[in-house]
Formats: sequence, structure tokens, C-alpha cells
Amino acid sequence: MTGFAPLTPPPRLLMGPGPINCYPRVLSAMSTQLVGQYDPVMTGYMNETMALYRTLFNTKNQQTMLIDGTSRAGIEAVLVSAIEPGDKVLVPIFGRFGHLLAEIAERADAEVHTIEVPWGEVFKPEQIEAAIKKVQPKLLAIVQGDTSTTMFQPLEDIGAICEANDVLFYCDATASVGGNPLEVDKWKLDAVSVGLQKCLGGPSGSAPITMSQKFVDVVRTRHHVEAGIRDAHHESARGPKIRSNYFDLGMIMDYWGDERLNHHTEAATMLYCARECAILHLEEGQQNVIARHKVAGDAMLAGVQALGLTPFGDLANKMSNVVGVVIPDGVHGEQVREDLLLRFNIEIGTSFGPLKGKIWRIGTMGYNARQDAVLHTLQSLETVLRKQGMSLPAGAGVDAALAVYSGAMNV
Ligand SMILES: *Cc1c(COP(=O)(O)O)cnc(C)c1O
Repeated sequence: MTGFAPLTPPPRLLMGPGPINCYPRVLSAMSTQLVGQYDPVMTGYMNETMALYRTLFNTKNQQTMLIDGTSRAGIEAVLVSAIEPGDKVLVPIFGRFGHLLAEIAERADAEVHTIEVPWGEVFKPEQIEAAIKKVQPKLLAIVQGDTSTTMFQPLEDIGAICEANDVLFYCDATASVGGNPLEVDKWKLDAVSVGLQKCLGGPSGSAPITMSQKFVDVVRTRHHVEAGIRDAHHESARGPKIRSNYFDLGMIMDYWGDERLNHHTEAATMLYCARECAILHLEEGQQNVIARHKVAGDAMLAGVQALGLTPFGDLANKMSNVVGVVIPDGVHGEQVREDLLLRFNIEIGTSFGPLKGKIWRIGTMGYNARQDAVLHTLQSLETVLRKQGMSLPAGAGVDAALAVYSGAMNV
């Protein structure tokens, strides 16, 4: 007897901005027995995972794989592998994760240039184009959906601007992937990294990425040569060494490629999990998953509005999968979250930066982009707010959400 009980977490409904409850099939995949790193069964799973994520990312990029670690492992791998000290990087910032991209680029010794819009807004392509012309960066790093503000940055016109100005186009699509459109090839993205813990319905801990040939060529000029393991032909790389061994995309590509050169020990359980997330997504159908997130998001939005609450930001550019809700005057925001958590087993999100204490963030993602999850959350929120002294139209949130669902067929 150790005195430690077996794991029995309460059955929370995770309706924040991520993480969310996993799809049950993803949980099963994670309890699957391991095989060896270079077992043909394992390398077969790796190849399948690459193919699945090519489809999910809508790309033909050969170099599509997993970085072991949370979403920022993918961000860091892309940035430290592309940036040489002194390279100019442009980061348009519209929320917390834009600041993260700038911070990681700075640590890679880039000359970082930023432009900003107020939290709750996104950039127009002309603003990004003007900054690119002025700065002439090697790389543009931008977030697609920033959960800190719930905003969704349109990307479809930015790739052509980057191409015309010979700029690499990188996007962190962690929060948006799966629940919103992402067309890697059509939008001319050179590198994209994501995570599983938002709309893909998995846990945090694996970061799928994809890289265009143009991006790969940049990484290959500075391939790190690991003494004693690498073949002679890798020594032709000219640029300065990538400063991280773990995040050296040159070595990671060789590990996932036909040569299977040894790098890290694959986080096999996370690979099983990432593979299952992609299978579930593609079995349901990309457009169907996007539609399911749209109706769940619309229903949650309609519900909070019917309760007389004010959604945050420019609703025309909101991600489908998360809504910011302005905390009404006289309401104790943290007390509401605590009551929801401890009495109703429902978690919603707080906020940070300029929005700290001002908005809650309510997510409808992955497994939880479901009608029953939306309805339970709205009814519970109404009850908790009434307990805080607000007088609210009884059942109005649930009725508004139900109306959205009955107007949307087959979702
Ligand atoms: C949630 C989120 C992340 C998460 O990063 P982790 O390293 O997995 O915590 C990254 N980027 C964006 C845009 C996000 O919304």
C-alpha cells in the first residue's frame, strides 16, 4: 500500500479554450501496447500518420510529421530550424500567441519586427503587405486562431503576398485546425504547426507539422551533423548549426524519412493518439467536422446572447470553436467559474493580458462540439449567474441554442 489512490478524476466537462475531453477512441488508442522504435509495424504507423496529416492539412508536402511535445514544440522546431542569427522575422500580433511567436523568434536571435492590432481584431492583408515591404523579412510568423482573443485571422490572401516578396510563410494553427478551414497548399503556406488539444480532440503532447519544399531547402542549408551517426553527405550543409538538437528539423526529417536515422525515441503513445485523432477527423469528414464546430459555436454564441451577455471582439472574425463572454458588472468572474467547476463539473476559461478579469472564454471543440455539451453549459451558466444576483430570462440560453440546432440539419 502506498497510500496513493488510483486515478479517479471527476467527470469534468471541459468547455474552456483547451484542453478538452478526448474522443473515447483516442483514449483507447493511448492504452495500446508499445512496439519497438524501428519495428516495421511502428515505422508503418509513422508513414500512415504522415499520410493522414497530409490529408488533414490539405497538402502534398512530403515533410509532414509529428514533433514530440506540446504545440509550442512545433512552433519552436519551425522557428529555430529556419532562423539564423540576425534574420529578420515579421510577427503580426493580435493576441497572446503572437507574442509567443515573437518571443521564440527572439530567443533564436532573429531581428524581430512586430505589428499589432487591438485584442479582438485581426489584420487586413494590406496591413501585412505594407509591413512586409517595409521590413523585408525572411519569414512571416502568424497565428491563425488565437484562443486568447477568440479571433480568426484570414490567411488566404497572405501566401501570394509572401511569395511575391520571397518571404517564408509560417502559421501556428493550433487553436483553429480541425474546427475551421486550413488549406496549406492552396494558401501557399510554407510551414504550419498545430496541436491536438483543441478541435482535434486529443490531449496536449504532440505537435503535427508540415513543411513546403521551399522551407525544407532553407532548413537543409544548415543541417546539424551529429558526430558518429550521420553520413558524409550531410556534411555539405553550410549555414550555422541549428542550436537545438531536439528541435533540429533536419535530423527529424531524416528520422521520419526512408533513412530512419536515429534521433529521439518516438513518443509512441502520443503517435498512436495523433494518428487516431486524424483518423476520427477524416472518417467524419473535414467539412462535416467544420460544420459541427460551426453549429456548436453558433449555438453557444446565440445562447449567451439570449442570456443578455455580451460576446467579445469582432464577431465577423471569430473562430467557430471558442467565444469570449464579457463578465457583467457586479458579477464575480472567478466565483462563477468555481461554481461551474465544483457544482456542475463544467470548466470554462479565464483570460490573460489586457483581457484578464474581463472575459470568460467558452470553447466548443473536438469531442465537446456537441449539442448536449452546449445545452448543459448554457443551463448551468444561467443557474450560476442567477445565484450571483442577475435576473435572467429563464431557459432563454438553452432555447436559443436549440433553435440554432433545429435550423441546422444533420449536424
Ligand atoms: C492553445 C494554443 C497553443 C498551445 O500551446 P501548448 O504548447 O500546447 O500549450 C499554441 N498556439 C495557439 C495559437 C493556441 O491557441
